[in-house]
Amino acid sequence: MKNSSDKPRGLLLVVSGPSGAGKGTICGLLRKELPELCYSVSVTTREPREGEVDGREYFFKTVAQVKDMIFRGELLEYAQVYGNYYGTPKPYVMNLLNEGKDVLLEIDIQGALQVKKVFPDGVFVFVMPPSLEELRARLYKRGKDTEEVIEKRLKAAAGELKSSSGYDYVVVNDIAEEATQRVLTLLEAERYRAKRNGYLIDKILGQNA
Ligand code: 5GP
Repeated sequence: MKNSSDKPRGLLLVVSGPSGAGKGTICGLLRKELPELCYSVSVTTREPREGEVDGREYFFKTVAQVKDMIFRGELLEYAQVYGNYYGTPKPYVMNLLNEGKDVLLEIDIQGALQVKKVFPDGVFVFVMPPSLEELRARLYKRGKDTEEVIEKRLKAAAGELKSSSGYDYVVVNDIAEEATQRVLTLLEAERYRAKRNGYLIDKILGQNA
């Protein structure tokens, strides 16, 4: 009997880690290397930064709108990060995965741990800074936040590093290009996992049915 699914479900790649560890840079490089990887644009209640476009970096929403989405179960996960809500729209991710497309989430640690509960088959990558000194230097260099916010983020990071044990992989981001290559390598290996290839049995047996 021929099975209806003749291709595997898409792979959910979750890239997470402390603020300033370089998740954004790695995800940017990954998207260049893998143009077919679908990037999930999150919703947020924070103000757009200069140059950010609604629907590209984020869907910018009011607190009431995000609360409404939470209430209606439209978010796969959500978290409050430094006073603002961030969340992943659920239908977008689910539809793409069901169509066999791979999806990339770049989210904070609280969110990643929520996704792991509902999607244990996802690939969870923790981006680790080489040191706290380097993390501090990067947060100052990128100039996105005030000194007060940076010191808050550094304090949080010290505790966040411990969450890395709940992930599948830890990638130290010393040099972004090299860290990205490591993610590409582990992604390649993930595709060969037996649990992702059960569809092949149905496909091959179906040919003889
Ligand atoms: P930023 O405001 O600097 O763009 O992002 C702040 C933090 O929120 C980053 O760690 C980023 O990865 C995280 N973030 C972005 N989108 C989401 C999301 O949908 N869910 C969660 N939990 N965190 C997110």
